[in-house]
Parts: sequence; structure tokens; C-alpha cells
Amino acid sequence: MKPLLFNAEEMRRYSLGPDHPMGPDRVRLAHELADYFHLTEEFEVVEPAAATTAELTAVHSPDYITATRLEVPARRFGLGTEDNPISHGLSTVAARIAGASLQATQAVWEGRAPRALNLAGGLHHAFADSMSGFCMYNDAAVAIQWLLDQGATRVAYLDLDAHHGDGVERIFWDDPRVLTISVHESGLYLFPHSGFAHDIGGPGAEGTAVNIALPRSPSDAAWLHAVHALIPALLSRFRPQLLISQHGADPHAADPLADLEVSIDAMAHAYRSVAAWADQYANGKWVALGGGGYNLDSVARAWTHVTAAVAGVDLDPAAPMPKGWHGSATLGDFGSARPDFTEFDPRQVLATRPEPASCRPPARSSPTGGFPPTARPPYPATPRRGCCGAPYRPGGHPLGEREIELDCLPYLVHSTNSILSTRSTTFHSSTNPSSVSIASPLSKPLKMYWQLNVAVSPDIGMSTAKAILKGVASVDHFSRES
Ligand SMILES: [Zn+2]
Repeated sequence: MKPLLFNAEEMRRYSLGPDHPMGPDRVRLAHELADYFHLTEEFEVVEPAAATTAELTAVHSPDYITATRLEVPARRFGLGTEDNPISHGLSTVAARIAGASLQATQAVWEGRAPRALNLAGGLHHAFADSMSGFCMYNDAAVAIQWLLDQGATRVAYLDLDAHHGDGVERIFWDDPRVLTISVHESGLYLFPHSGFAHDIGGPGAEGTAVNIALPRSPSDAAWLHAVHALIPALLSRFRPQLLISQHGADPHAADPLADLEVSIDAMAHAYRSVAAWADQYANGKWVALGGGGYNLDSVARAWTHVTAAVAGVDLDPAAPMPKGWHGSATLGDFGSARPDFTEFDPRQVLATRPEPASCRPPARSSPTGGFPPTARPPYPATPRRGCCGAPYRPGGHPLGEREIELDCLPYLVHSTNSILSTRSTTFHSSTNPSSVSIASPLSKPLKMYWQLNVAVSPDIGMSTAKAILKGVASVDHFSRES
């Protein structure tokens, strides 16, 4: 059984104008480049039908759908704004894209294909009753809602776009059956200015919205740490019946609308990990979508890698681009000098040994918060497994073949926690009263770490470490419930 590739000429016409970042040719170029690398032949190509009004209204309000078809500005529906200008025929194209993601999900759910790909999909900012962030219909949400209507009880949505996956998160905010995970540039700096760690889901669904809000300009290693530190642990706990992933290409360094500055090579590595996680934690049921991305060269190369990951085909990052290609000379950013990303093995959370220099005792007290001066640290005093410098030992870790290093982690968590507690309360309390929940779960960080088997190493920088820890804090409730 081949995976399915959803494609139709009409789907490639999702454009808000030639001068708009969401302009033409994004999807077309990606498909052409994937075709150049002989990936299309690995798929069964399907031309989808448009989502029906009934299918769209499973997520979107009837008034909003009507408004999208009128093609006149309607501010209350987010239509006709600077971001979302009126574009003739867009509702027809958007319905076809939503139909593609829906039919992709139906095929995988019903066992007619192991995996499916819709690069035109991933319009993750669309809300139930408004267009937002260039996105008209939320195709991922339409697909997820269909799964729930079929009786699915555990659906995971993973969003690697540079922007917070706010639309999908909002639509399933109160639904514990849907785990949404978004790794994105912090809303402090970037649209849609949401997706902070304290956003964990509504009443009864706490912990099923997970946000890892990253600082600007993380290195490849830091971004990969953020992706690998938490996602496999969450999927392992949640055990989704199907995984839908969104692969916006805008984390790439050349993207004009975001600041994450990740390489194509690191993104490709993450896509491989998602493929492995789909197999390991979601019974191989995986639907991959496109998303944002506003540099045509970046989008085409990133999505060619997504296509390869879904097809299970290895691509050479040093492979030359087609003759006359405008942009990179090779498929990857580094050519044959690609960095070694093998430490980010998708089968384990983290196997990097923290540097001995970080292995210092936790402070007895901290003026900025953290553990009370006389309290014992909430982690096991024994056994101490080969502290700094001791050889790495294989073990029976449930997530992989190798045991995870935790030796130095208590110290890192302690020092990071101190800073985080202070920052979070001063930082968020004026705008969001729920922010105090951040500090609370972090008072027992090691419990979460032991439960989820998540570790971060200090070489990724404190900002990224904090972003990951905040994400961990957000799933504390979830981890205890499950
Ligand atoms: Zn984006």
C-alpha cells in the first residue's frame, strides 16, 4: 500500500495575491521539486473533492462560511483585512484543501493507506468563525473533528510551524480527546502572540494543549532539542490513534516572517523523527500537512523533505538542485558538510550527556525562588547513576533502547526553575491571571522529569532550556492524569 499524495491544480491556487506573503507558487514549486527527486512515484496521487458545507460546519460557523463565499470585507469574520484580503475564488480553493486533509485522514483512519500528505493543508490559524493569519478554513480541525465524530478518543496534532498553531488549539481547547502540541517562536515576538506555557487547555482538558514557545534565533541543536525533548514523551503517554502533523516551512533561516533561523537539514531531521514517532506511538497512522513558509526556495526544499519522510525515502542533503533553480545550490543548507544530528535519535528523548561543568550542587536558597532553603530537593537522593564523567550505561528505558542521562539534570532544573519562577510571575501575571500555574508545577520539576523522561542539556542555552521546561510544566496535569 502506497502512501497517498493529495494534489489538484486548484489546491495550488491558494494565494492572497502576488504581493502577499501567502502568494502563488508555494505548493506548486514544492511538488515540482519533490517530483524532480522522484518522490511522487512513491505515492498514489489523489485528486480530492472539496469539503462540503456540512463537513466545514463541523468546525466553522455557518455565518462565517457564508461570509467567506460573499467575497466582501467583513471585519467580524476577519475578511478583507490587510493580512486577509479578499481574494476571488479563495473559498473554493480553501474548501478543496480542507477536503484533501479530511479525505487523507479518512483514508488513513480506515486503513486504506498507511500515511497521507497534503502540502496545501496546515492552515492552522483559521478559527471557527474567522479568518486569521492567511488561513480561511482550518483543514486540520475539520479532519480532527471528523475523527472524533467517528468515535476516536485520542487524536494528536503536532505543529512545527514557526507560528503558534492557535486555531487548532482553540477549536479543541476544551476537548481532552485532542492533544495539540505546538513548537513555535514565542508570542512575545511573533504573530499570533499566543501559545505560552500556561496555555494548557480548558476545564477538563488541562494538559492536552502543549506550547513550547522558543526564543528568537535558536541554533539547530536548540530547536531540535525543543522538538525531541518533549514530543516523544507526550506521544508515548497519550498513545494517539492517529497523528496529524503540520510542517510549516517558516522555521527556516531564510523565512522573511519569522526569526527561528533553523536550517533545512535540521528541519529534515525533525521530519524523520515525526515519521518514527508516528510509527512508534500512533500505530503508523500519520497525516502530514504543509503550513506557513514564505520563502519559495525554503518552502520547496522543506516540503520536499516532508514528502520524502512520508514516503520513507532518504534524500542526500548535498544533492544539487535542478538547473536554473532560484535559490540554494543544494537540497540542504550545508551541502556535504551537514552537521551531525544523530544525537537527536527519535527513539529516545535525549541521550546527550550534560557537560560536567554544569554539575554543581543546587543552591541552598535562592533569592529568586526555587526550592525552599531547607527543603530536600524533590528527586531521589539515590541511586546516583554514574555522576559526571562516568560512562554511559544502556538500560531498559521504556521509550528507547538506551537509558537517558539524568545525572546532572537536577542541578540544571533547579537553577532554571529559580529563574523561571521569577520570570513567569512577573512576566505574565499582569496580563493573564492563570500564569501563576506555571510556578506551581515547577515546584516539583523532577517528578515530571522522571515521569516523562524528558531531559535538557545546558549547552542549548538557558532561554531554550526555559522554553522546554515551561512546556514540561504545562503537561504536568496531563502526566498525572494518564
Ligand atoms: Zn507560520
